[in-house]
Amino acid sequence: MELLRPSSADEAAAALGNGSRALAGGTELVPLLRDGLAHAETLVHIAGVVPRGVDANRIGAGTTLAELEVDVQIPQALREACTQAASPQLRSMGTIGGNLLQATRCWYWRLGFECWLHGGERCFAKDGAHREHAIFGNDHCASAHPSDPGAALVALNATLRTTKRQFPVAELYRLPTAENRNVTTLAPDELILELDVPSPEASTYLKAMDRRKWAFPIVGVAVARFAAGTRIALAGVAPIPWTLESAAALDDATPLPGTAYKVEIARALVRRALGELGDPATR
Ligand SMILES: Cc1cc2nc3c(=O)[nH]c(=O)nc-3n(C[C@H](O)[C@H](O)[C@H](O)COP(=O)(O)OP(=O)(O)OC[C@H]3O[C@@H](n4cnc5c(N)ncnc54)[C@H](O)[C@@H]3O)c2cc1C
Ligand code: SF4
Repeated sequence: MELLRPSSADEAAAALGNGSRALAGGTELVPLLRDGLAHAETLVHIAGVVPRGVDANRIGAGTTLAELEVDVQIPQALREACTQAASPQLRSMGTIGGNLLQATRCWYWRLGFECWLHGGERCFAKDGAHREHAIFGNDHCASAHPSDPGAALVALNATLRTTKRQFPVAELYRLPTAENRNVTTLAPDELILELDVPSPEASTYLKAMDRRKWAFPIVGVAVARFAAGTRIALAGVAPIPWTLESAAALDDATPLPGTAYKVEIARALVRRALGELGDPATR
């Protein structure tokens, strides 16, 4: 395997695709390569060419979660989502760009089962063990998106700038279909460069997990209040970060037998998060 060290983001993007993959902190990609779940002839090392750091509302995609969790310029929901993600060691290596693009933690997928998301015929989780799986968007694949910051950024209505375009973070994601089983809209030769994060009046991120630290979200709830209204997004409940139009939309959940408990957890966390933000409906 070859390691490229490009001297600019354009040079890095030009080297991507056709068997090459971008390498940022490597906390996700290296294990996937080791386990044969990702393949690359060339790794394009993007640290140094993708922006890093925070400047008012702009966040470089190469900024680590550890840097974000302590930066007072960052809205509270995103800081809290970063603080509660992974472990201190992982947060000091893992970048926000890589975090948004992490693959599912579904154990069938991670163990290399030829399941629907891997191009096979069936979702093994639906008939098998699935207590950590989805309650929304689970027609074909019942995986649960693991990114805490992803939900926070969707609630905050953040936008992404890539080497090709600018668009809302919510549009980075798509539910997989029979024709296209990708869960992101990023092209193989497209690099995330920067995020633009609006400043809300108030925001928060609450997370239910199996341990008090270093665990993926069972349910993560991000709420951000703007003058135009309050936005809610969830982690750990669908194959992609999930926008919830209102607390009542939890009635539309389609849980599996083993994930029904997540709906009640989500209800409690949404109520608590809205209450923290002073939502009149929760008083
Ligand atoms: C044990 C463990 C526990 C974890 N727990 C949590 C958790 O609780 N919550 C949570 O949210 N996350 C969790 N994570 C995920 C962790 O935060 C991510 O692994 C990390 O943020 C990925 O960043 P990275 O820079 O290491 O990405 P890399 O591993 O370098 O890359 C990941 C993917 O993103 C692509 N990529 C990276 N940067 C860019 C870019 N700028 N443009 C285009 N493509 C890019 C790579 O090609 C690759 O496909 C956990 C990870 C581990 C291993
Ligand atoms: S939930 Fe998705 S990733 Fe997991 S077994 Fe089903 S199809 Fe595969």
